Amino acid sequence: MNNRIERRIVIAGAGIAGLSVALAFRRVGHDVIVVERTQSLGTVGAGILVQANGLVVLDALGLGNAVRAAGSSCRAFNLRDRHGHLLLRTDFDAVLPAQLCPISIHRAELHRILWDACAAAGVSLQLGHTVKRVEPNESQPSLVCETGNGEIRISGDFVIGADGVKSVVRDTGGFVSHLDPIVEGSVQGVAPFSLPEHLYGEYFGAGEACGMLPLGGAQTFWFWGGSGKTVSGIEGMPFPEWHARVCKSFPPMHQVLDYQKEWGSLVRLIHRSVRCASWSRGHVILIGDAAHAMSPNLGQGANCALVDALALVCHVEALPANPEKALKQFEQNRRPLVEAIQQRGHEEGVLGTQAWPGAELLFKLLIRLARFTSGARHRAEIRMLSGLDYEGFDLDAIGIEPPVPWLTHPLQRDYA
Ligand SMILES: Cc1cc2nc3c(=O)[nH]c(=O)nc-3n(C[C@H](O)[C@H](O)[C@H](O)COP(=O)(O)OP(=O)(O)OC[C@H]3O[C@@H](n4cnc5c(N)ncnc54)[C@H](O)[C@@H]3O)c2cc1C
Repeated sequence: MNNRIERRIVIAGAGIAGLSVALAFRRVGHDVIVVERTQSLGTVGAGILVQANGLVVLDALGLGNAVRAAGSSCRAFNLRDRHGHLLLRTDFDAVLPAQLCPISIHRAELHRILWDACAAAGVSLQLGHTVKRVEPNESQPSLVCETGNGEIRISGDFVIGADGVKSVVRDTGGFVSHLDPIVEGSVQGVAPFSLPEHLYGEYFGAGEACGMLPLGGAQTFWFWGGSGKTVSGIEGMPFPEWHARVCKSFPPMHQVLDYQKEWGSLVRLIHRSVRCASWSRGHVILIGDAAHAMSPNLGQGANCALVDALALVCHVEALPANPEKALKQFEQNRRPLVEAIQQRGHEEGVLGTQAWPGAELLFKLLIRLARFTSGARHRAEIRMLSGLDYEGFDLDAIGIEPPVPWLTHPLQRDYA
């Protein structure tokens, strides 16, 4: 600790990536400022699945149990046909320790837990600051922000672009990147009641899918998704017409949609995948969706953002005198796992949005056949879906090296 260099870290975006990296840098004693374009941190979004990799990071930050208490544990996941008949059941708890089974939580709750921890740790949060551009400037990069009182420049030793899929830091920072063509979109919401156990799971139809999952606080997170074209096609559609269309294809969705009377606060997303040639330029770094937004299919977007955050801090702390090398190593260690998850999610998106005659029948058959997968392959599959690349439940297992002895909370290397 005595040889540590104290730095000023400037972060664009107070989403899951921005707040978690802010907290991790602050916990090791750096001066951290987060700028966020929205005026308040309100109750936005719907449900998010915090998976094993994200939980390991939250445990390392001392927030795992708060997240578990605010969410709902998913020990098993059921794939069903459009009428609700069970096709495949995946028991996470047969492979993962109970503490690392996915937690389904309202995004706003996860956000609140991270924000409360940031505030308690002394992170400075500037709301109503819209980043207009980044000025890379070698080792003292700056963010230029529009505020209610005009433009200001905020400089630091590092600037972190955690400003999501449409990242201004990425697009003005000279990063070489592209957005994949749109494959999928979704509508998501939260119903203020729980459902009988047999209704939870994901439902498949021709080129569309929907799902219902228990959320903390006796609520239900639900979603409906389809190809980008299908979801763009509902733009301007009256809510009752969409409700009738979805419930006709997926009768079990009556359970949550009958409660909803208008579009209101429902989340409508068109999903884009981002690919960047490099995640850092000089002392400007991209993390989370800004670096590698991905399909929602594996429920890994927020989890990869959490892992990025802690991995980045670990690498910078391990090589305090050589930040350029630290950033290169961060990317080298993280990229293979992130790209594997991104690719798998993309493939599932392409497959799941096929609507040609016979596609539904074929997918049902393939899902049923998956029951006969060998035990070892099944375990490997669950670890992959959980963002873990090999057997092991500590930070090494998610590609975070070197270890982080300076964290306030010890790592939970022994999940019982
Ligand atoms: C409002 C909102 C609701 C969401 N709801 C869901 C959901 O219900 N389900 C789901 O699966 N995923 C949802 N997501 C996406 C999910 O949170 C992310 O994919 C994942 O958590 C990765 O997070 P991130 O921090 O990298 O990006 P994001 O979560 O997108 O966070 C980026 C942050 O940067 C801020 N920002 C963007 N541009 C600027 C700028 N120019 N200046 C300053 N600040 C800027 C944004 O306001 C946001 O707070 C939502 C994202 C947002 C922003």
